[in-house]
Amino acid sequence: MKKEFPKIYDKLFRICQQLEKYFKEVQDLEFTAEEGTLYMLQARTGKRTARAAVAFATDFVKEGLISKEQALLRIDPAQIDQLLHPTIDPSAKPKVIAKGLPASPGAAVGKVVFNARRAVELTEENSQQVILVREETSPEDIEGMAAAQGILTARGGMTSHAAVVGRGMGKCCVVGCNEITVQEEEGFFKAGDVTIKELELLTLNGTTGEVMLGEVPLVQPQLTDSFKQLLEWADNTRRLGVRANADTPKDARVARDFGAGGIGLWRTEHMFFGEERLPVVRRMILAKDSAARKAALEKLLPFQKQDFIDIFAVMKGLPVTVRLLDPPLHEFLPNTEEEQKRIAEQIGIEVQQIRETVNSLHEINPMLGHRGCRLGITYPEINEMQAQAIFEAACELSRDGVKMVPEIMIPLVGHPNEFRVAKQTIDEVARRTLSRYKTNLTYLVGTMIEVPRAAIVADIIAQEAEFFSFGTNDLTQMTFGFSRDDIGKFLPHYLKNDILPADPFAKLDQEGVGALIRIGIQRGRATRKHLKVGICGEHGGEPSSIDFCHRSGMDYVSCSPYRVPVARLAAAQAVLREKAQKK
Ligand code: PEP
Ligand code: MG
Repeated sequence: MKKEFPKIYDKLFRICQQLEKYFKEVQDLEFTAEEGTLYMLQARTGKRTARAAVAFATDFVKEGLISKEQALLRIDPAQIDQLLHPTIDPSAKPKVIAKGLPASPGAAVGKVVFNARRAVELTEENSQQVILVREETSPEDIEGMAAAQGILTARGGMTSHAAVVGRGMGKCCVVGCNEITVQEEEGFFKAGDVTIKELELLTLNGTTGEVMLGEVPLVQPQLTDSFKQLLEWADNTRRLGVRANADTPKDARVARDFGAGGIGLWRTEHMFFGEERLPVVRRMILAKDSAARKAALEKLLPFQKQDFIDIFAVMKGLPVTVRLLDPPLHEFLPNTEEEQKRIAEQIGIEVQQIRETVNSLHEINPMLGHRGCRLGITYPEINEMQAQAIFEAACELSRDGVKMVPEIMIPLVGHPNEFRVAKQTIDEVARRTLSRYKTNLTYLVGTMIEVPRAAIVADIIAQEAEFFSFGTNDLTQMTFGFSRDDIGKFLPHYLKNDILPADPFAKLDQEGVGALIRIGIQRGRATRKHLKVGICGEHGGEPSSIDFCHRSGMDYVSCSPYRVPVARLAAAQAVLREKAQKK
């Protein structure tokens, strides 16, 4: 056009510049030229991908058209996921066979497998890409989940095991997919009248919850310089700290690379799994008395200490909050007869003993059962071992010049006495260990607030607790009385019929759960003025919930490593929105 109709071209170019300057937005223009005259037909804001939106916003700042603040407000934090994970190629026409809850964003393609062992075998031995499809996952599936490209479960909600672990790993995950029935043993699953057998190709979209037949083309993510620039502006604007929920040195490294200022939740349960550890953990659970339990725990100590050393070293003195063991113990024991026989042989006991222990650990409602701080109170040896591993690791690193303040967090406290008893055990281990190492280490002992009662009596708990972290997964579960693992059964109906405005496990229910959070913060700080307060439930990575955390005066949010950039931007936007409201 420039060559053929240079005059019209120049005019169009000038008009484009004028319109862009006037609207301060990229324009989608329609025009025509007839007999030497240019006619402008339409101008509207151009649609854009996340990557383009970030590039436009930073370019406009450089050109002086908008301020950094305006640029920050222009990007939808939810769009940032597109920059961090593979996405479905927009030109693809996939065949969607089912839809579940979008538990962890991004897209994945792979061959279907139905158990964790197969997932590991196929990826390690044959370098194949797999999708792990299960009724639901449990901590035993961790290695298979890590090996898979994506995870699909028929059951579960936004904070069920698969969802939380998937998000932590930055792995595409769809849960609560009621439309499928999984026959793990037989090696197939059904979606309507379509049957998908082991090794057939499947594509998942964790951003929309769609399950697609075959291999759908993906677009790979790219971290651009404009994105880094935008996040730097966000960091200079936000008040909230952003930490990560990380359980392994790999997660910790990803978290640091994405700009996390520490670890806000280190779930230690994964330190009880693994080939060498699980038999020892099982011995500990099957122990008949405290002495036998202690003997097993002593064997676990070196493993856990090394894990602590590894993560503390990666975090190089940044704060790390370690949560003591939380899940019910039955999760560590085998359920099938075959597995029970194998384990009995492996650790040299009668299979009957395993059966009896499995039966005795059976609970009608394990989420409200023998878990959280209740474990370490009834079996103090567990808390002792974990505390010793933490203090020994921190003392040894401190000798090597890595200074840090371990933050030990007690889960599921509801009564101040629960906190008191657990803290006494930790303080006693600290006294012994620090004097043995002749080290003057500072440490904090705090609590999760995830039982409604804890928020109500936060003023009493804060007499001894040195920090609070709101565990909004359990707090939501217990405030609504919705099981976080079974909400998938009725949530779609609730959303479709406007009974709930959103999934409360994904977006914080500010009215109800939020009220408890405000009460908890206000009462906690009435006792301890500078009480450090954060959030480590999945809401810590969700933009509207982050805005609430900012407004309610929290110090930091903690979320899965891949959501750290989202949280950095959302925390900056919270400041800007608050400023605009005050004007
Ligand atoms: C929570 O309950 O919010 C939490 C972070 O703990 P978990 O998800 O491990 O129960
Ligand atoms: Mg919890």
